[in-house]
Amino acid sequence: LLECRDVRKVFGGHAVLDGLTLDVAEHEVVALIGASGSGKSTLLRCVNLLAEIDDGTIHLDGEEITDPRADPDLVRRRIGLVFQSYNLFPHMTVLDNITLAPVRVHGRPVEEAREQARQWLDRVGLAEKSGAYPDRLSGGQQQRVAIVRALVNNPRLLLLDEVTSALDPELVGEVLSMIRELKGEGMTMVLATHEMGFARQVADRVAFLDAGRVLEQGPPEQVLGDPVEARTRQFLTRII
Ligand code: ATP
Ligand code: MG
Repeated sequence: LLECRDVRKVFGGHAVLDGLTLDVAEHEVVALIGASGSGKSTLLRCVNLLAEIDDGTIHLDGEEITDPRADPDLVRRRIGLVFQSYNLFPHMTVLDNITLAPVRVHGRPVEEAREQARQWLDRVGLAEKSGAYPDRLSGGQQQRVAIVRALVNNPRLLLLDEVTSALDPELVGEVLSMIRELKGEGMTMVLATHEMGFARQVADRVAFLDAGRVLEQGPPEQVLGDPVEARTRQFLTRII
């Protein structure tokens, strides 16, 4: 479904992504791990066309989205991205937060977007919050709303960047279970995380980023439990 080929991204003379290649199959959940600054967020931003790559290609469903002729708005409609900080607009209700982009950016009919938003809120147990303002929601609820906002265009792929790291530990569980549920429904996801427990629980595959490439990848038990590469082992001993 997603194919990143020899992707290169340079910031100030430093190749943050340096020939990175990563494939993600439909319905697969891939966790990106690696030291701070290893390029996890940069990769997600490049896939969502928030950052332009300097070399290589990225394909979604066989179509090259890094082709300069590709329409970024159309691509982003097919790829949802959720950040660590949920960035909900404080002066807008939950429902308006969710439907703003689909209606304003993607030109979808208001009622259609609202209907879809309500269905998603219902599925994640937040139906009664649709008229509430973000400051009336817990951090976990706000993050779930942010995920719904990314889902309302029915994306082919969902990118999650440290979606649990800004949350109090007791709120992490509700976001985790939402991600598990999405996985159960077959959503293809790529998530960057510092929490190895999270990676182990939800990922089908873990990819370790080092020096701008995927140094090692495989099933969570293997990469996290019995890594092949010395650098992966080093990284894991440092963070545990
Ligand atoms: P973390 O685990 O801390 O979230 P990360 O793996 O997500 O780290 P990135 O945020 O992708 O790492 O950053 C990779 C490198 O790229 C860092 O050295 C960072 O300083 C640099 N970088 C990222 N965005 C920019 C930017 N817009 N301009 C300049 N440098 C940037
Ligand atoms: Mg990051």
